[in-house]
Amino acid sequence: MTDRYAVIGHPIAHSKSPQIHKMFAEQTGQDISYEAILAPLDGFAATVERLRKEGYKGCNVTVPFKFEAYQLARKYPTHVYAAQAVNTLKLDGDTILGDNTDGTGLVHDIQFNLGITLNNKRVLLIGAGGAAYGVALPLRDAGAILKIVNRTSDKAHALASSLISNKSIISGCSFDEIANQEFDAVINATSAGLTDNELPLPPTIFAPGALAYDMMYGRETPFMRFAREHGAAVVSDGLGMLVEQAAESFFIWRGVRPETAPVIVALRAQQ
Ligand code: NDP
Repeated sequence: MTDRYAVIGHPIAHSKSPQIHKMFAEQTGQDISYEAILAPLDGFAATVERLRKEGYKGCNVTVPFKFEAYQLARKYPTHVYAAQAVNTLKLDGDTILGDNTDGTGLVHDIQFNLGITLNNKRVLLIGAGGAAYGVALPLRDAGAILKIVNRTSDKAHALASSLISNKSIISGCSFDEIANQEFDAVINATSAGLTDNELPLPPTIFAPGALAYDMMYGRETPFMRFAREHGAAVVSDGLGMLVEQAAESFFIWRGVRPETAPVIVALRAQQ
């Protein structure tokens, strides 16, 4: 019998997840279906409960429900406590297992697809919203010397404090405080690109050979343009992360790890 999965969000029509999981299923011979479900803004928990009763095996969760999914899940691995957000639910009878695959997706894309090691690299993470929370701990675990900057600097401090094991490795700050600093990797985890807003970054922010990574995908953002103009050696959008986080969810559900490279190529060809 075909096992059913879905992605739940609001809005959801733009989601590439059904297409990605269809390609994963074909490639691995897994008998699954995967659909996009629009949940009402006040109806996330009820939607998950309906899917559970109908026998769905799992779902991905996207904006704006990741924090609610964290509250709903009854079990999760320890790294999810730091993220406080969940993008993957595994439905197993009465048990709802929550996980967050965004961080693994980002680290895999940078290290395996782009071939850039993060260990001992100075990494600037811009943003302190749901996406930044999801990726901060995996970046630290990959060995990054992490600085978090956010428009609302209190939130950058709060995120850094929630992760601190060694203050010299992770810190939070305001944009003013990075005026004279340079980084080996600058990761944009803000939604500024959605509205074509520039970030107040100093032009000297990119160290020689630096990576500029925007978690947004689908188009060149002002951050990516700024990076090309100010010396970043590698500039990437977040399409690879999207496919990698999906592969990690697929693995959690099916125990099979799909090849991501052909899926990334197929999606790039559509852009
Ligand atoms: P949130 O709404 O939770 O957080 C938004 C963040 O962006 C906050 O830190 C906010 O700062 C900052 N921000 C918004 N506008 C501006 C601006 N004009 N200037 C400076 N900072 C700004 O969003 P998410 O964290 O959930 O998502 C962030 C981005 O990451 C989105 O574009 C999303 O598409 C992308 N993403 C990509 C994924 C992928 O697989 N590629 C996975 C997950 C997310 P403040 O706190 O001051 O308001």
